[in-house]
Amino acid sequence: MKIDFHCHTTASDGALSPQQLVQRAGDRGVELLSITDHDSVSAYRQLPDLPQGLRLIPGIELSCLWQKRGIHIVGLNIDPDSAAMAEATATQSRARALRAEMIAEKLEKYGVDNPLAGALALSDGGAIGRPHFARHMVNSGFVGSESEAFKKFLGSGKTCDIKVCWPSPEQAISWIIDAGGIAVLAHPGKYSMTRSKLVSFLDDFTSWGGRAMEVVSGRQIPSQTSDFSKLCRQFSLLASWGSDFHSPAQTWLDLGSYSTPPPDITPVWRHWQ
Ligand code: AMP
Ligand code: MN
Ligand code: MN
Ligand code: MN
Repeated sequence: MKIDFHCHTTASDGALSPQQLVQRAGDRGVELLSITDHDSVSAYRQLPDLPQGLRLIPGIELSCLWQKRGIHIVGLNIDPDSAAMAEATATQSRARALRAEMIAEKLEKYGVDNPLAGALALSDGGAIGRPHFARHMVNSGFVGSESEAFKKFLGSGKTCDIKVCWPSPEQAISWIIDAGGIAVLAHPGKYSMTRSKLVSFLDDFTSWGGRAMEVVSGRQIPSQTSDFSKLCRQFSLLASWGSDFHSPAQTWLDLGSYSTPPPDITPVWRHWQ
């Protein structure tokens, strides 16, 4: 079965509207899909119809801070209309607004023209984030590409990568559990953590009620996949996977496209079929 439990729409930093996204997922043969926008569930309010054969599992990707690192925790099978999700998204939205002001202030000092207004316009009411600043920096000619904007200013460890606004993983996990969902560690390969740091994170994560981990995120090398499935077994975690799709322009990372998941894991969706 083709599954994709990690992707983004215009409700956060994705290029497709929720309706366009589910259409594309259906066209590409995805049968079980979760839209996991950054700190937002508003995509679920913009979906009148689903293509035939596509089942949607409500989800979210929450930003949090653990030992000065930005960590993403996906909530799957949440109730988007729950009080816990209302609180989570309102809190995260305030954090994003405050952080956007802090990022804009820094970028202005570097000489970027009108960063806050520019990024806000590009986010168009969705969850404002670093990609909107990167896009504005390209549009205003300050950098040649979004990846240059991340490499020099916005990427992990750079001066405009502001993380202080985020809650703890414990808080994020508790919102997800209270919303009836399962907390999943997103893309464990993308934090530049040593293996022992990751193990130490998983100790905390599981003690706070985290129950699953993405063993595959988009395209990754087989040795990483087998290591993550080993960690899944070690910590009795369920396994999830998805593309982390953002835009059709990223042709190498489309919906339902990811490296082959390992055979020796327990899938997170086993109870949802
Ligand atoms: P934010 O949610 O504001 O912290 O922004 C994080 C998002 O920025 C990620 O989900 C990616 O979509 C995007 N991103 C992170 N690093 C890079 C990068 N090096 N180049 C392009 N986009 C990136
Ligand atoms: Mn993103
Ligand atoms: Mn992420
Ligand atoms: Mn993501």
